[in-house]
Amino acid sequence: MNLKERAFQLAKPNVLNAYIACGDVAAAIETADGNVYTGISIDTACSLGHCAEHGAVSEMLKHGEYRIKAVVAVDSSGNAVPPCGRCRELMSQLSPDNRQAIVEVRNGIFKTLEELMPFDWKTEPGKQ
Ligand SMILES: [Zn+2]
Repeated sequence: MNLKERAFQLAKPNVLNAYIACGDVAAAIETADGNVYTGISIDTACSLGHCAEHGAVSEMLKHGEYRIKAVVAVDSSGNAVPPCGRCRELMSQLSPDNRQAIVEVRNGIFKTLEELMPFDWKTEPGKQ
């Protein structure tokens, strides 16, 4: 089962109550060590939730890993969706190596995380 299929298995929208829904988007991360971690979105009133990528990053960190080889998020129809700016920044801050992570941004369209990022504000003057 590939990374996208792993994510799609978890993309099952679930409305818990008037304030919270989850699973509209699911994400799967393959780490540099070859492990796969997953997460689902949590959508809440007052913006208290988080993206599926954020959940997958949390799961990855729980297992002591932080270097990402590839990541994909899918909606409940199985279509790849690009990470939001917050998730891009989160993944890039985990390790400089993650700039080379492969991100499926649309079905069959792959970019490196670096291609999705603006000029890196963390870069020291005189260095790239
Ligand atoms: Zn996000």
